[in-house]
Amino acid sequence: MNNQELWQAVLAQIQLNISQANFSTWFKNTEINSNKEGKALVLVPNSFVKEWLQNKYNNHILKILHDLDENIKEVEYFIGKKPVEQKTEEIVMPETDQLEFQEFKINKDTNLNPKYIFETFVVGPFNEMPHAAAIAVSKKPGLVYNPLFIYGGVGLGKTHLIQSIGNEIDKNFKKKKVRYVPSERFTSEVVSAIKNQTIDQFKQKYREIDVLILDDVQFIAGKEKTQEEFFHLFNVLYERGKQIILSSDRPPRAINSLAERLRSRFEGGMIADISAPDLETRIAILKTKAQEKSVEFGEDIYQYIAGVIKSNIRELEGALNRLMIYQNLNNKKPDLEITKTLFKNILSSPNRIITPKKVIQVVADFYDLKEKDLLTCSRKKEIVKPRQVAMYLLRQELKDSFPSIGRKFSGKDHTTAIHSYKKILKEMEKDKKLEEEIGLIKEQIFTS
Ligand code: ADP
Ligand code: MG
Repeated sequence: MNNQELWQAVLAQIQLNISQANFSTWFKNTEINSNKEGKALVLVPNSFVKEWLQNKYNNHILKILHDLDENIKEVEYFIGKKPVEQKTEEIVMPETDQLEFQEFKINKDTNLNPKYIFETFVVGPFNEMPHAAAIAVSKKPGLVYNPLFIYGGVGLGKTHLIQSIGNEIDKNFKKKKVRYVPSERFTSEVVSAIKNQTIDQFKQKYREIDVLILDDVQFIAGKEKTQEEFFHLFNVLYERGKQIILSSDRPPRAINSLAERLRSRFEGGMIADISAPDLETRIAILKTKAQEKSVEFGEDIYQYIAGVIKSNIRELEGALNRLMIYQNLNNKKPDLEITKTLFKNILSSPNRIITPKKVIQVVADFYDLKEKDLLTCSRKKEIVKPRQVAMYLLRQELKDSFPSIGRKFSGKDHTTAIHSYKKILKEMEKDKKLEEEIGLIKEQIFTS
C-alpha cells in the first residue's frame, strides 16, 4: 500500500465509527505525508484539527495504521499545505464516493440539507409509522400532529426523516418559514443571547418560524435556561398553529432532568418510534444507497453485509463506502470472499467489543451523572439506582464476575453486586418503565 491507500483505508474505518459531520470536520483535507522508520506523518489543515486528532483520535488512528502496517509505531500530526506534486494522486477516488466529501449545500434560510428527502428514505415495518406521520405533517403542517415527536437509536434515520418533512414543506409551501436546528445549537444560541443581552432578538427570530424542527432534543435535558426558553417558544408557536417537530434518542418520559411541563407538551402530540430495520429492509437500503451512488454489487454481497450490520443504517452506508473504495483502488468489484476479509477487521475491531467502561459511560450519560459519581459509594437515591443498573448490565451483558463488578465500584464486595443484580432483575418484572429504560440503555451501548 502506498501512503495514499493507507490513509484511505484508515479513513474508511474511521468513517464507520463517527458521524458524517464529525468525519468531515476532522478528517477533511488530511493525508499521510510520509511513513518512515515507524513514524507516520499526517498532514492536517490547521491547528484545531491537529489538536483534535492528537487528543481524541490518535489511539484509534494508530491502532488502525498498526493493523495495516505493523512497522508503524507512532503518528505525528503537522500543519501544512498539501505538496503540489501530490495533487495528481488525489484522483484515485471517483466523485460519487462520500470520502471525497461530496458537499451538499445546506440551505441558508432553512438550515436543511437538501439530500434528506422522502424520495431517498426507505420505508419498512420498522419505520412505517413515523414515516406515515411525517408524510401527514408535511401535507398539512400545523394541522395534524403537533408536536410530532420521533425517537429511536443512533443512525436509524431520525435526522433524515425530520429534515425530509422540512424540505417537503419548503418546496410546497413557499411562504412558510421552515427552520431546522440541532438542539446543541439551540442551547448555545440561548446561552449567548443571555450573555450578550440579545434575548429579545433571539425570541423574535424564533417566533417568526412556521415549522420548527429541533433535532436530538434529549440534549436540552438538565439545561434549565434552554428549557425555559423553549417552553415559552413552544407555547407561542403552538398557539399560533405552527408546526413543531422533535427528535430524540428516547421517548419523552425517559428523558431525565426534563422539566415536567415540557415533557407533557412533548407528549401532547404524536409520538412515533423508529426501531432497528429488519433484514429485508437492510438489503433494500443497501441497494437504494448503491443506486444513489451509481454502483452495484452482487446479491450475495448485499446479503452478507445486511446480515452482519444489524442496527445502524449509517454503518450500512459506511460498509458500502468501503466496498466502493476497494473497487476504486483495485478496479474490480469485491467478491464475497474479499468482502468477508474487508469486514473481518471492522467487525472484530476494539470499538465493537463492548467494554465495562462503555457500559458505565452510557449508564452515567443516560442518568445525567458523571462517571465518577456512579463509581463512588454515595447512597443518594439518584445514584443508587443507576449504579445498580450498571452492575446489572455488567453481569447480564458482559458476564462480568460479581467480585470483579464489586471492585469496579470503589471496592464493594461481591454481595453488593449480587444484590444489585437481583434487585434490578426483580424490579424489571413489575416496573415497565425500568424495563424500557434498560432497553434504551442497551440500545445505546450496542449502537453508539
Ligand atoms: P439518526 O439521526 O437517527 O442518528 P440519520 O438520519 O443521521 O440517523 O441516518 C443515518 C444515515 O442513514 C443517513 O445518511 C441517512 O440518510 C441514512 N438513513 C437512515 N434511515 C434511512 C432510510 N430509512 N432510508 C435510507 N437512508 C436512511
Ligand atoms: Mg440525527
